[in-house]
Amino acid sequence: MADEGYVKYSARHSEAPAVEAPHWAELNDARTRLRELGLVGVSRGIGFGNVSIRVKGEEFLISGTATGAAPVLSLNEYCLVTSFNIGENSIVSCGPIRASAESMTHGAVYRAVPAANCVIHIHSRPIFDRMLRDRYPATPAEAEYGTPEIAEAAGACAAAQEGGEGLIVLAGHDEGVIAFGASVGRTFALLEELYNRACPRTN
Ligand SMILES: [Zn+2]
Repeated sequence: MADEGYVKYSARHSEAPAVEAPHWAELNDARTRLRELGLVGVSRGIGFGNVSIRVKGEEFLISGTATGAAPVLSLNEYCLVTSFNIGENSIVSCGPIRASAESMTHGAVYRAVPAANCVIHIHSRPIFDRMLRDRYPATPAEAEYGTPEIAEAAGACAAAQEGGEGLIVLAGHDEGVIAFGASVGRTFALLEELYNRACPRTN
């Protein structure tokens, strides 16, 4: 189930002009490609999937809430997360659009892996099933979307992987997968490789 539409966390958001971050265009191109592959999109009227880049420290720019339907986003559909508190499940953000509840999981990965500069969250039935079958690092099945538990677990899973990059299957968030890496290109490549293995072309 893709349930990004439900905000269970507390958010303090300030309306502000868009923030142009280095590598934003590259991030947005990757998001467009993921949208074409169906890994970011909309299901039963609810958007799923989001992409982010580290700006500085633990600040990151992330695609905003309920943007899954758009084939291509503009900078106005990205939001800057300036701080977050995992235990309190709270986020402070600014920009032209609000952050999705899943921003906490992105933040947890940036906190756990200083070398990570990009985090991508996608949804895919075949990729999710294959990752569970192949025993990829996974968050607990009882850790649900939008909770401190899933964010903490994703951070721990990320920290346990070598080389500042990797893939995590969010076992308690059906079809949910996280990729992270030092660059947008590297993070996208991890997902593309997984996609090519799990979703063979039929034509
Ligand atoms: Zn999700």
